[in-house]
Amino acid sequence: MESFIYKLYKKKYMKIKEIGESLYLLKPKQVFNSLKYLIDTEPGSVPRFSAVTRRQPLIAKDEYIADLHAHPYISGFDDLIDTFKVMHDNNVELLAITTHGKGDQREHDYWTIKDSLKNSEVGNFFQFEDKGKMFSVTFKDKKLSFVGAYEMYVYVPGVKGRVDIVSLMPEQGFEKKIVHGLNLHEYLEINDDHNATVFGAHPYTIWDPHGPNGILRFRLANENERKYIQDHLFPNVDSVDRVSSNCIWMSESDKLLFQDYGKTLTNSDAHSKTPYNRREIGRSGNIFKKGRYLTDAIKGKEHRNYHFYTPIFQFATSIAFDNPKNFP
Ligand SMILES: [Zn+2]
Repeated sequence: MESFIYKLYKKKYMKIKEIGESLYLLKPKQVFNSLKYLIDTEPGSVPRFSAVTRRQPLIAKDEYIADLHAHPYISGFDDLIDTFKVMHDNNVELLAITTHGKGDQREHDYWTIKDSLKNSEVGNFFQFEDKGKMFSVTFKDKKLSFVGAYEMYVYVPGVKGRVDIVSLMPEQGFEKKIVHGLNLHEYLEINDDHNATVFGAHPYTIWDPHGPNGILRFRLANENERKYIQDHLFPNVDSVDRVSSNCIWMSESDKLLFQDYGKTLTNSDAHSKTPYNRREIGRSGNIFKKGRYLTDAIKGKEHRNYHFYTPIFQFATSIAFDNPKNFP
């Protein structure tokens, strides 16, 4: 039985703890972090003032901006032409059309889009050029290029949740081989067989059905899991990325990733479930030299980067509106 003294102590201790928790937000470091978070994510921003190009660094004539992890959700020509427009406005010259899994009616993959442009009036109109694992169009005197990417989840030893991987420019047929939930090494073998360039998509932010409160399904990998990710994932991928979206916990995840991995790719991970959200393509991006083969440049870390977060309002709408089938 608990002693009277202990009960008193506990009562006092609990009270202190409660006060302590509410005071937590008033600590200088927390005040600073909260302010920084708010500045980073532009609260209350309106689209006109939070234009992606406003914060992009200047680039030289022989450089271009690539967003290598973004979900344009192209289900028809309207979406495709809107994507051209966004790339043109946001100064993104190369986009990886990234699907969740193999792609479907709601988000067609690279090969499906390329096929529908080939020999079509729309393709002719935009001067479609087929370059195999890349295609280009000309939109308002600007050449825009596209490659394919697939985002899949795998299991990494020692990590309870799912870890997302982006496979960039795999050979055709890859999409027929992949399934969700393989273990990392099995999945990497399929990538190897299809010459994909592989990067860990925000690897410290993992999907966990038992995440905090059972509501937020994504969470930050704990210290132990991060160690496993460093040992198993880092040495076996060509890069990792820090992204603009999912900003609630992402800034902490990105900070740790930069600290542990060093130079990363930076991409928007825009979820264009509405045309409004498509405006986020290029919010973060990579700056490459023209003429250098893309995958070699990624492997050699020959790129500059810029990284900003999706403003809160845009982020909230991207998760609040619409929920396409098969969306993880
Ligand atoms: Zn993604």
